[in-house]
Amino acid sequence: MDGSRTTTREHSSGAPPPVRARGLVKRYREVLAVDHVDLDVRTGDVYGFLGPNGAGKTTTLRMALGLITPTAGTVELFGRDPMREGARALEGVAGFVEAPRFYPYLTARKNLELLAALDGGQARGRIDEVLNLVELSERARHRVGGYSHGMRQRLGIAAALLRRPRLLILDEPATGLDPAGMRDMRILIRRLAGEGITVLLSSHQLPEVQELCDRVAIVDRGRVVYEGALTDLRRQGGAGYRLRSTDDERALEVLRAQAGIEHAATGEHGLRFQAEERDVGALSLALARAEVGILALTPELATLEDLFFRLTESDGGASGASLGPNGLFGDAPMADGRTSPAAGADGRGVHA
Ligand code: ATP
Repeated sequence: MDGSRTTTREHSSGAPPPVRARGLVKRYREVLAVDHVDLDVRTGDVYGFLGPNGAGKTTTLRMALGLITPTAGTVELFGRDPMREGARALEGVAGFVEAPRFYPYLTARKNLELLAALDGGQARGRIDEVLNLVELSERARHRVGGYSHGMRQRLGIAAALLRRPRLLILDEPATGLDPAGMRDMRILIRRLAGEGITVLLSSHQLPEVQELCDRVAIVDRGRVVYEGALTDLRRQGGAGYRLRSTDDERALEVLRAQAGIEHAATGEHGLRFQAEERDVGALSLALARAEVGILALTPELATLEDLFFRLTESDGGASGASLGPNGLFGDAPMADGRTSPAAGADGRGVHA
């Protein structure tokens, strides 16, 4: 959406951006997995690539890393196209797609030693440092087969960090983690960003992304429905309010009948709705007439989750997302015949 601004800014500083995709398309027979995607990840971004299951996130990341060929369009990493320049385009880029892979019968340290050796050995001296960074030093001599999911994810990041990447691409790094694991992952990613590493991560966990990312692209059925700053998106969402009352059921009826009140719904902590300030005054009187007491009425910015649904519902449902049973995204159908993840047994998959 603000791609032209990005390009100008990056060009004026002389440095090509970490990721620039234009008109990226991937078709698998009748499935249009990625449909003309444009992305601009700028230096220093923690960039969230969001969408429901099957939206095309992994496919896009795989194209970005040169693991699969686009049907159409281009993607450049620091100005280099992995399709044309191969491994050279991946200099300074690391991460994992789908899930990091390791030899389960070897220790974490041994796995990292093998990876360092594959790279010519220079990274060997960084093994202690990266293990420490992901807080696995104490478990480094344990076999990876006994690692929890969260520990494997962190080891995947350690493997990626061996090469001092300038751009880290992480596919669903927090998926499957418990709340403490998610918090640790968030702290780790923030720390890496603080060290100057640009991070592009895919996720379908909206609250997580809301806390972590400064810029986002939201994809739905292969199409970008928003790209830009998260704060801009939330501002565009307009004024939202949260209401706690003595009778939420009755209050919801009042909200729905009241002029100027939109998107009224039951939320996690009471009711939520959108309104102009002038209509909120009238609402409080209507609640009083209905004998509903107001316990709390607080303004709030729209959440990323609200906005996702509004964005996808506003195009008449063409993009197909809907509220799923888990309260986040509806599942898009998955086509058969998916290939296994491109990440290799070297645990890095996309490590340049
Ligand atoms: P998730 O959050 O579930 O990982 P995603 O957003 O990463 O989803 P993709 O894995 O990119 O989605 O899949 C996008 C669409 O492309 C899906 O419909 C999927 O079935 C299809 N697809 C992906 N890879 C292949 C393949 N190798 N062959 C056929 N269809 C594929």
